[in-house]
Amino acid sequence: MTTPPIDPAVPPSGPGCLDCDNTGGWWFHLRRCAACGHIGCCDDSLSRHASAHAAQSGHPIIQSYEPGENWFWDYSANDYYNGPDLAPPHSRPDDQSTPGPADRVPADWVEQLRNRTD
Ligand SMILES: [Zn+2]
Ligand SMILES: [Zn+2]
Repeated sequence: MTTPPIDPAVPPSGPGCLDCDNTGGWWFHLRRCAACGHIGCCDDSLSRHASAHAAQSGHPIIQSYEPGENWFWDYSANDYYNGPDLAPPHSRPDDQSTPGPADRVPADWVEQLRNRTD
């Protein structure tokens, strides 16, 4: 076993999914990479950018970036992880919508998530 790469000093990349912001997409919930601060969307989102980042970067540990949630997940072990206190902020802004961002969420977002086929 190697120690998973976690850098508690790195702040999160921003308030929303970095990759959705680059592609004009939208997310359901947000996850934070514990190694580099990358904010990505969760596996219940259409694009699953958090797990894609983990696969591409080799950074297996994420923490929830939702207000009131502080659990970690280890993609390599497929299990919860007991991580350290990371640099603030610990969640997206409280006034940010879920899903988000508000100006890019389609009216039929519930259907889109339910009908996801990949
Ligand atoms: Zn995303
Ligand atoms: Zn990372």
